[in-house]
Amino acid sequence: MPAQKKKPTRQNTARRGKKGGGAPKKRSKAELVLKTELSPQLHWMYIYLRKAKLKMPNLVLPRRIRSFRPTRNKIMRVLGNAYFDNRTVVIATHTQTTYMNRKGELKVKKIVRLPKARILDTLAHEIAHFQYADHGYEHEEFTRSIFKTFGLKEKCPYCKGTGKVQLEGKP
Ligand SMILES: [Zn+2]
Repeated sequence: MPAQKKKPTRQNTARRGKKGGGAPKKRSKAELVLKTELSPQLHWMYIYLRKAKLKMPNLVLPRRIRSFRPTRNKIMRVLGNAYFDNRTVVIATHTQTTYMNRKGELKVKKIVRLPKARILDTLAHEIAHFQYADHGYEHEEFTRSIFKTFGLKEKCPYCKGTGKVQLEGKP
């Protein structure tokens, strides 16, 4: 008899809200815990990632975010990279100031910290690559949408709040 069939409901184990309410389809905001693994230098990013995921529930987040600090020996070409196979994003925490030596070679002058807004800008750019692999209008717009979810009050001095990244190569 179908009437005998016992429906396992979530309310039996974990009671949420008032009784009689239907089973919640979405988990509440307070419960959202991200699985993304972050480098210690980038732990502060977690709240921003979470903000993005709350506003854009379908956003594909990286499994891992690793930090990168450039050295004086090599010119850094990009501030970030996205790897699709293991869904890893690499984000630079510092950048280089450069100069041209007498031989006309580009050399590193100093290693400088990047402002958080600039780092978040890179983060948005790289996450957008999981949706749009190539650079172009869609990728740019998607980067901007992600960046906006961070709700930064101060505009990034480099991108002026547009979320546009200058130093960037193909992932
Ligand atoms: Zn890119």
